[in-house]
Amino acid sequence: MPDDDAALHSQAARGRGPSPARTRSVPIRTCVGCRTRERAAALLRVVAENGRLVPDPRRRLPGRGAWLHPVPGCLDKAERRSAFARALRLRGKPETGAVRRWVQDQQGTGSLPVPSSEESKVDQS
Ligand SMILES: [Zn+2]
Repeated sequence: MPDDDAALHSQAARGRGPSPARTRSVPIRTCVGCRTRERAAALLRVVAENGRLVPDPRRRLPGRGAWLHPVPGCLDKAERRSAFARALRLRGKPETGAVRRWVQDQQGTGSLPVPSSEESKVDQS
């Protein structure tokens, strides 16, 4: 692939050699569910919009964000201890339906205890 090669070369020309500092500059966030520190890339950013939680996988939405492992377990924990309200400075309990759906979507292809569900994974309206 000549194109890839060209891209590689032009990149290498800018910053010479490997940069060992790169691993240190990975942003770390704390999951509001299990309180584990994690690479931000492995967490889902969640923001609040009008008292509702909205998943922000692209991290584009403005405002304060909470970070969560995209797994139901962490979502449950976060809900139980009102971690979202605290992290996002909300009053009362935010509605988590949209986030839950997003998280469950992520799980759809893997760990659900449903053996033959090949066709149940595409359902995005
Ligand atoms: Zn977690």
